[in-house]
Amino acid sequence: MSVTLPDLPYEKKALEPYISEKTLEFHHGKHHQAYVTNTNNLIQNTPLEKADLETIIKESANDPSKVGIFNNSAQVWNHTFYWHSIKPKGGGEPPKSLMDKIISDFGSFDNFKNEFKQAAATQFGSGWAWLVYDPSDKKLKVIKTPNAETPLTKNLKPLLTIDVWEHAYYLDYQNRRPDYIDTFIQHLINWEFALKNYES
Ligand code: MN
Repeated sequence: MSVTLPDLPYEKKALEPYISEKTLEFHHGKHHQAYVTNTNNLIQNTPLEKADLETIIKESANDPSKVGIFNNSAQVWNHTFYWHSIKPKGGGEPPKSLMDKIISDFGSFDNFKNEFKQAAATQFGSGWAWLVYDPSDKKLKVIKTPNAETPLTKNLKPLLTIDVWEHAYYLDYQNRRPDYIDTFIQHLINWEFALKNYES
């Protein structure tokens, strides 16, 4: 089996005016596709050739000889997770069970939003911000990860993510990353997806 590019869960125009069709054409059709192509090229004729994506990521993490495999395969997984973290007519408030947990662990929904904004805005250079569930203390947390780093290899369960690589927002927001983050929170978050991950 080889790694494949999943279809977007909505039409390329569906996130306008917040994320343009042009951004999705490049972000999904070129960037995400390139990570898929690179992963397949790099695992060819190696023991990981027939492994599933999560195995490829976990086996290559923290292995200096497999940096390229890790970077590309983790980016395949992170992007697929990101496409599901957003949806047309998203944003607003989470379903009650998740809202209750957010209030319990962050103090208030506003505190969560501020912490998420702060993490996404201050990830220096390229990377991701995440809402995760930490099984070690049973709490929700906000984390940021550089480049291709992913909660999958840190014993954390991801609930949702925002891509803060420039290619995610530059065509629509240029250098205004904070505007992209605010729009993501207000209009794009797929809280049902986050709830599903929390309950899984
Ligand atoms: Mn990206």
